[in-house]
This record gives sequence, C-alpha cells and structure tokens, in this order.
Amino acid sequence: MSTSTALPESHPRPSLLPLLVLGQGRDLASERGVECPGDLPPASDPDLVARARAAKAALGDRVFVLGHHYQRDEVIEFADVTGDSFKLAQQAAARPDAPWIVFCGVHFMAESADVLTSPDQTVILPDLAAGCSMADMAAISQVEDAWDDLVDAGIADRVIPVTYMNSSAAIKGFTGRHGGTICTSSNAKTALQWAFDETGGVEAGGKVLFLPDQHLGRNTAVRDLGLSPDDCVVFDPHKPHGGLTPEQLRDARMILWRGHCSVHGRFTTEAVEAARREIPGVRVIVHPECQYEVCELADEIGSTEAIIKTIAAAPDGTSWVVGTELNLVGRLRSMFPAQKIAFLEKNVCYCSTMNRIDLPHLVWVLESLVDGRVVNPIVVDPDVARWARVALEQMLALPGGTSKD
Ligand code: SF4
Repeated sequence: MSTSTALPESHPRPSLLPLLVLGQGRDLASERGVECPGDLPPASDPDLVARARAAKAALGDRVFVLGHHYQRDEVIEFADVTGDSFKLAQQAAARPDAPWIVFCGVHFMAESADVLTSPDQTVILPDLAAGCSMADMAAISQVEDAWDDLVDAGIADRVIPVTYMNSSAAIKGFTGRHGGTICTSSNAKTALQWAFDETGGVEAGGKVLFLPDQHLGRNTAVRDLGLSPDDCVVFDPHKPHGGLTPEQLRDARMILWRGHCSVHGRFTTEAVEAARREIPGVRVIVHPECQYEVCELADEIGSTEAIIKTIAAAPDGTSWVVGTELNLVGRLRSMFPAQKIAFLEKNVCYCSTMNRIDLPHLVWVLESLVDGRVVNPIVVDPDVARWARVALEQMLALPGGTSKD
C-alpha cells in the first residue's frame, strides 16, 4: 500500500505559515511590529491633544503629516493633508523640504511614500502593525508563480499588469519590471484603458493581470470599459495554476487576482435593498472595492475623494447611505450636517488596521522626533524601490495623473 501523502493536483496548496488558533500562541516572525518599541503614552492621558500640538509646533515645517480618510478623527486633526491613497502619494512627493513624513495610514501607503520621496526624507508609520489584509493577499512569490503560469499558457507577452495601490512594494516592483502601472480607485478606469492600449487593444487579444483586488478590477472593466463579466477570470493563488486552464487564461481579457478588502467586501445587496425600503428617496453611494452585485444596485460608485465631492455637491436634505469605511462615514456626517447620512451595513466594522494609528502612537512618534529619535521608519529595498518607482511614476504620468480628485 502506498504511504505517499502527496496531494492531488486539484487540492489547495497548504499554507506555508503554521495555523495558529486564536489566543493559543503566536508566530512573531509572521507578525509585523506587534510590539511597540517604546513607551507609548497611555490612551487615557488627558494631555494627549496638548502634547501632540506642542510636539508638532516644535517640529514646524520639518515634519509633514499625511492622513488617509479612513483614519480616526483624533488623528486627522493633526494631518497637514488628508486624502485617498492617490492624493497622498502625490502629496508625499510634493514636499521635498520636509525631512520627516509621518504617514497616518497603512503600511503599503508608507512604502509608496518612501519610494516617491527623496533619499534625504524619512517616512514614519506610527504603528508598524497597521497593515492591510488586501495587500497581504498577494505575496510576491505567489505573483511570480502566477506569471510563470501565464508564460506557460503562451500569453505573457500580451499581458500588462495593473496593480492597485493597496499592495506591497514588492508587487509594485513586479509591476514596474513587467511594464505595468499602479492605479487607485480614483484612476482605475484610466489605468485599465492605458494598459489595454499598450497590449494593442481588447479586440487584438490584449489582457490585463489585475492585482490584488478582484472587485475593483471587475467593476472597472465591466462598468467603466464595457467588458462582459465573462471576459473576467479569477486567479486563485491557493490553487494549482490559479484554478484555471490554459484555455481559460487565453480566452480571458481580465485576469483578476483573488483578493478583496475585508471591509468593503462585506457590504451586501440585502443592505442596499433594506436601505431603499426603509429610507424614502435614498441615494446609495459605494466604493468600487465593494462586490460587483452591490455596485450594480448602487446609485453612485466612487473613490473616497469622489464620495466626498458627490455628497458635497448634493442639495441639502438629500438622504444617503454610504458603503465605505466607517471613520469616513462618521466624518461625512459632521462635514455635511444638512445632509442625512447613514452607514450602509450594520454588520461592518472599522478597518482594524487603519484604526491601529491612534493618538498615543502619533504623540510617541512626534515627541521622539523632537528628542532627535526617528522611530518606525519605513525603508523599501533599493532594487524593489527602483522598479516600484517605475510603476508609480507610470501612474502619475497617466492622463489626469497630476490633477485627479
Ligand atoms: S479598508 Fe480595506 S483596503 Fe483599506 S486598509 Fe483596510 S483592509 Fe486594506
């Protein structure tokens, strides 16, 4: 009798990481920055706001604080600029005089800022555990293996990678090496159109490998570029050859990586239908990281910047339900008190990694700078950074690249 334990071809590949039962052990090698290497002020310190103000004033123009829209109000209060990841990437590059950039956002954003800023500038992430579950769904080894599958299928020379900003610097570097571009939810349509043009066009058999958010890729290809859902296939990195046959890869126009946002992927069509039943005349606006079916039912789709602008331009008294991160929805309520704004889905929480940046961590990094210590710097490997910069600069060179909303 054979004692072989080899898995059948169709069986999912086992994870290389040990499976840890919650609360029963931890693998520090696989957890980034869980321990804070310093003395954080207690969150209950009533002087935290005053301490943050004093430290920022002492640093003056030497520090530039960027705040993503999904950050807590207590952090946004100290941001010099707020925006989505596209705007913040532009802004990071626009302040070469500031030696320190404190990035209140998540890890991949700070990496992009490090890539786009000068070697004399240091990017700081207040909590190194502020990662992104979507970015973690595409590891560079998996993406390199997937590219080998495209080579084996004989289509790699007709594929351009388009990678969402929400990805590691290594994946951005892969994109640069293969002639692709980065995109954000603000410019995904422009980026996809550019990529298809580079391949000679959809009709000529051109294809895009879209990483790592399948929903943004599908929504943009189908809703904005007029492709059919049948033109899209989903490459599952946990299955042999992505779970796809060479014929499926050859027939596809969009090869979507099987990744998603743990927040936006949870909004449901049932929640949209319930909002329409319960709120007469409601307008439903959602982020394009939501599932295709949810976007199909919505009245408006937009990046965080576009959601803010759309609500700002609406007549007073308009009822909205909004499908994006809860910190931003709460802030929209205070920004536009004349509008009636509700959150789309009662079962969806804050983005837990965005929320890791809080006032104690911000005070800690600012006061450390005042004391002459740089804590939590984000430094991208120079070779990775070189190719990631190629892909990011391709994005900034797209039509409208310097004036997107
Ligand atoms: S909201 Fe989603 S995509 Fe954005 S940082 Fe959180 S998990 Fe990542």
